[in-house]
Amino acid sequence: MPLSPTVTFHDGHRIPLLGYGVFKVDDDRAADVVGQALAAGYRQVDTARLYGNEEGVGRALRASSVPREEVFVTTKLWNDEHAFDAAIAACEASLDRLGLEQLDLYLIHWAVPEQGRYVEAWRALIALRERGLTRSIGVSNFPLAELEEIIAATAVVPAIHQIELHPYFQQRELRAAHAQHGIVTQAWGPLGQGKSDLLENPVITGIAEAHGASAAQVVLAWHRAHEIVAIPKSVTPARIVENLASLELSLTRGELAAIDALDRPDGRGGRDPGRPWG
Ligand code: NAD
Repeated sequence: MPLSPTVTFHDGHRIPLLGYGVFKVDDDRAADVVGQALAAGYRQVDTARLYGNEEGVGRALRASSVPREEVFVTTKLWNDEHAFDAAIAACEASLDRLGLEQLDLYLIHWAVPEQGRYVEAWRALIALRERGLTRSIGVSNFPLAELEEIIAATAVVPAIHQIELHPYFQQRELRAAHAQHGIVTQAWGPLGQGKSDLLENPVITGIAEAHGASAAQVVLAWHRAHEIVAIPKSVTPARIVENLASLELSLTRGELAAIDALDRPDGRGGRDPGRPWG
């Protein structure tokens, strides 16, 4: 299996365009499935304090024959840790659980606008990068106004913004802002999280049939063609490999345009980052 191509952040570091996500994978299972993913050829793992599986991810990294420097590891700051000192301590605790000296990427998981501490959290991530605890810093689930605000307040642009993004919810407004600022776009729920009929959509399945590929592979090839970093999750061995094999599939301009046309105003499947928690 070929290794994923990479995209370069404005800070000079690179991230594989295809990675492996471990949301809703319990800690015991994580060591096994991340090990499988690394053996298959994934070189990017996306976890979070919230997922409760950083220790399992760390065990898989240590057990793997793939050298640490060849794997891009991301984790995230949870919503109750936005205060500056709490954010510093949270990153240190994540590193301890992962058994790592340094992260490749640390993200603010959600802006939580009503809490009003995302600028403070962003200042903490800037300090963490300066102290060498993480190579790159970014955000996740920031509405456009809050994204612009942290940049204006600190003059530090996130390397990446991780957001829900799939053919039914293409996030054109945020992607345009990312392009202006030089922020890489990363898709969570790239396969639609099984919450819609995306993988049965006739446009997708028609393209899949034409290539002798699966619907999931077509969707992941679409992300890659747009230089959107995708982190599909599966705990099924055959699907872990199948999703990685999307790297061997290239779509035509016409096929990409047909998938571009699937965007829907009501296509969001997950939580709206602008809506208060409660
Ligand atoms: P996803 O779109 O990757 O969908 C995963 C589901 O799709 C699986 O549970 C499985 O049922 C199905 N699937 C996977 N491969 C398939 C295949 N080849 N064929 C058919 N079905 C297949 O959704 P996700 O797991 O929610 O998102 C991916 C990753 O993004 C997560 O694991 C996590 O790392 C990250 N994430 C981040 C946030 C955030 O708030 N930042 C939120 C959700 C997820």
